[in-house]
Order: sequence, then structure tokens, then C-alpha cells
Amino acid sequence: MRLILLGPPGAGKGTQAQRLVEKYGIVQLSTGDMLRASAAAGTPVGSKAKAIMDRGDLVPDDVMIEIIAERLEEPGSSKGFILDGFPRTVAQAEALDTLLDQRDLALDAIIEIKVDEQVLIDRIAGRSKETGGTRGDDQSTAKRLEVYRKQTAPVADHYRRKGVLVSVDGMGTMDEVAALIDRHVQSLVEA
Ligand code: ADP
Repeated sequence: MRLILLGPPGAGKGTQAQRLVEKYGIVQLSTGDMLRASAAAGTPVGSKAKAIMDRGDLVPDDVMIEIIAERLEEPGSSKGFILDGFPRTVAQAEALDTLLDQRDLALDAIIEIKVDEQVLIDRIAGRSKETGGTRGDDQSTAKRLEVYRKQTAPVADHYRRKGVLVSVDGMGTMDEVAALIDRHVQSLVEA
């Protein structure tokens, strides 16, 4: 099973991805986690990425595409993967289409989690308080939402045109959203 979780910052992609990993034995490829790991390791690429992330911007497409291309080469779970945080631009989505075509792989579903902006702002502020502001980008919420609207929302249209987009209401509790996602994923498993 090959899935993409799409949604604005604070939509709960990471939490839902981890749950799907446990339930279906697929691997999670989270570009946000990968970038935070490089930043924590203090590599030159990591330090550069951290400055970009902290101000709420996107790391350049060529860097991200290289990271994902490398990951797709690694022997992951034979059961598939879930991408969370990638693709974030139409250029990344097009590059991913090519990478998957070259490997004869198809995506089973792109799940878009929809949440109102005000709710996202409140959630991120809440998360920042809970974690004591350890995530550098929690201070740049407005910028990240603007970047999402301009650069990432069109990614949903890219997949909608291909007929593989599923939208779920992300306004409920984590469990409610999980149930909505499971309904779709289960139908894929049974198909
Ligand atoms: P969130 O889901 O809260 O937006 P992520 O952990 O997915 O957070 O990403 C954090 C930051 O990492 C982004 O704001 C961006 O700067 C950078 N990043 C992650 N994935 C990508 C990507 N595919 N392209 C460009 N930048 C990315």
C-alpha cells in the first residue's frame, strides 16, 4: 500500500501516519522528521534547512526530491509506505510521479486532511506550549499557513485531476479523523 497524507501544518498528519504504520506495517517517510534529524545532527545541509524551516519557508525542491529519491532506493517495508510532508509543491508532485513511474510503482491513495485555519492556529499554539517551544517553527505559523495555501494546496488539485484524491474532515478528535481515514484505507485493503 502506498499512501500520501496531505494537509496543512497542525492537521495531524504525523499522528495519523504513525497510526497507519502500526496498523498496516508500512513505513513512514516524513520529510519534516528527516529534516529535523539532519538539523539536530548539525550537518551543513541540516543547518541550512533549519534556518529555512524556522522562518516557515520551504526547503528547495531539488534538495527535497533528492532526499526522497534516495529513500525510495532503500529497502523499506515490502508492504509499502506512507509519505507525510511530501510532496509540498506541484514540482515535487511531478518529480514523484516520475520517480514512481520509473520504478513501476503506483500510489493507492492521497488522503487530504481538511482543517479550518483558525483551528490550526490554536492547535499549533497549544502544541508549542506543551513542548515548551522546542520546535523552532512553531513561531512562524502564519507564514507556514500562507506557504501552504499558495504552494501546497495546488498539490491536492494535481491529485484530484488524476482521480486519486480522498478528502477527509480533520476537524474532529484524533480518533474521529482516524476512523474516517481507516474507512478509506480498509476499502483499499479489501479491494
Ligand atoms: P508540519 O506538518 O507541521 O507543517 P513538517 O514536519 O511536515 O511540519 O515540516 C516542517 C518544515 O520542514 C516545513 O515547514 C518545511 O520548512 C520543511 N519541509 C518538510 N517537508 C518539506 C518538503 N517536502 N518541501 C520543502 N520543505 C519541507
